[in-house]
Amino acid sequence: MTPANPPATQKVGLFPGTFDPITNGHLDIIRRGQAMFDKLIVAVGKNPAKSEIFTLDQRRDMIERLIRRECADHVVVDTFEGLTVDYAKRINATAILRGLRNVSDLNFEFQLALTNRAIAEIETVFVMSGEAYGFTSSTLIKQIAAGGEIDRLHLLLPDIVLKALKQKKQDLGGKLPWRQIDHLSGE
Ligand code: ADP
Repeated sequence: MTPANPPATQKVGLFPGTFDPITNGHLDIIRRGQAMFDKLIVAVGKNPAKSEIFTLDQRRDMIERLIRRECADHVVVDTFEGLTVDYAKRINATAILRGLRNVSDLNFEFQLALTNRAIAEIETVFVMSGEAYGFTSSTLIKQIAAGGEIDRLHLLLPDIVLKALKQKKQDLGGKLPWRQIDHLSGE
């Protein structure tokens, strides 16, 4: 369901991502970013450069439960297909919100933000992650979860995500369907 179009005066933020799965790092960005907008839409999409463990609906449901528990009422979740900028136009987003963990992120995010502005005239605002989450990435989490003990990830993942990862691994006979596609995914 696409959130209803807001009045033009409302500041609408769009936090897009793959969120496979959502980490404490993502939640940190949502908590920090929510104060900048009248409405913040966390939008779960598909990144063709990444293979996924959780379906779009599973990712959305986990985020829904977490934002209800930990974020302000004006934070909502949605899913989308296609380009982020097209979705941003559909929902009348004021700006795209992205998180930065380190200077390496900046390289890719800078390119993405300038491209999005050039093709769709949409601005991007950045929030730096808290020091505790600067090293957390969904890709590394999937690698660790696929090859080892999932409980080790308890500082990096919300409890419900930890549980869902364990369940997924168990349902699949101990094998998580994850593989590294390349080393350039920027995650
Ligand atoms: P995408 O595939 O679009 O990069 P991700 O789910 O990997 O989607 O990331 C969504 C956003 O969250 C990106 O802006 C990314 O930089 C940011 N992000 C991811 N992990 C962290 C973290 N640990 N701290 C801060 N920001 C993060």
